[in-house]
Amino acid sequence: MKKTKLKLAILASVAIAAILSGCANSGPETSKEVNVYSARHYEVDKQAYIDFEEKTGIKVNIIEGKAPELLERMKREGADTQADLFITADMGNIYQAIDGDMTQELTSKILNENIPEKLRGENNEWIALTKRARVIVYDKEKVNPNSLSTYAALTDNEWKGKLLVRGADSVYNQSLLASFIATEGEEYAKMWAQGIVDNLARDPKGNDRDQVKAIAAGEGLVTLVNTYYLGQMLNSADPEEVKAAQKVGIFFPENTHVNISGMVLSKYSANKANAILLAEYLTSVKVQEAYTAQNYEYPANKNVEPSELLKTWGELKPQDLDLSDLGRNNKKAVELFARAAWK
Ligand code: FE
Repeated sequence: MKKTKLKLAILASVAIAAILSGCANSGPETSKEVNVYSARHYEVDKQAYIDFEEKTGIKVNIIEGKAPELLERMKREGADTQADLFITADMGNIYQAIDGDMTQELTSKILNENIPEKLRGENNEWIALTKRARVIVYDKEKVNPNSLSTYAALTDNEWKGKLLVRGADSVYNQSLLASFIATEGEEYAKMWAQGIVDNLARDPKGNDRDQVKAIAAGEGLVTLVNTYYLGQMLNSADPEEVKAAQKVGIFFPENTHVNISGMVLSKYSANKANAILLAEYLTSVKVQEAYTAQNYEYPANKNVEPSELLKTWGELKPQDLDLSDLGRNNKKAVELFARAAWK
């Protein structure tokens, strides 16, 4: 009788194992793939995935899209999602995955060694891949950089009719304002948004590159841009972009707004071990050096220096804040932009 029970138990456990392994992607032993939902569409990322595949034999399946689309898709797919890692620019986007309960802890000894604590979520619910500075960019011919100081000073009367910005729908701007809510308070953030709107040379429009081109075309004197766009423009195949970027200067205000691009591990990841291996690889010195040399972003790995070009732009003195606040304050920032009629 006892034997029969034991036999049944063994049979049952074998059956369970068979069911588990029958499920696609049951674990590191059998799974040879990892699925990435990525809103980063850079060559340097694609090369990193190819190198990872060669190194590990683990196939990286990329599903590309804009961050809101990918977030929507993950939400819709729920527990059936294919996503193992979600990779995107901007804490505002990353936070939505966390807020929507779509993530789980992404942690390992190597990740903790590569990425400093400030560039990881409190419970490792997100990990930074790169840092990005949103700085003041100005017309080199017409603006003396000594006349520049802080983000707040751009609301002074002397800049009336001279500022260019992109729209309030830009998550980069939303995170910038969210950072002011975190560091200076809501009232300050509200006044700042209003002060910028009052000094605009034209209604907000276009992307970061378009602001640089508009400065070069004489439509305004000063704008706010993420630095890597200047790296991309200076190294562009399009001579017009190079020319425009050469006409502007970069100014790092005190407490420069620093955002990140980063990754989260899907709550329903079926290839968790592979996802962690890929996350470790993306934070490795090799890939981090490529991010800064080829994509002009600041490395998140504490052992990697910014590229030479980035160093020539100046020294980054970032805001001191909990980066998760950029996500937490996003809704409030959107509201303040609307109240300031920042289009
Ligand atoms: Fe960008």
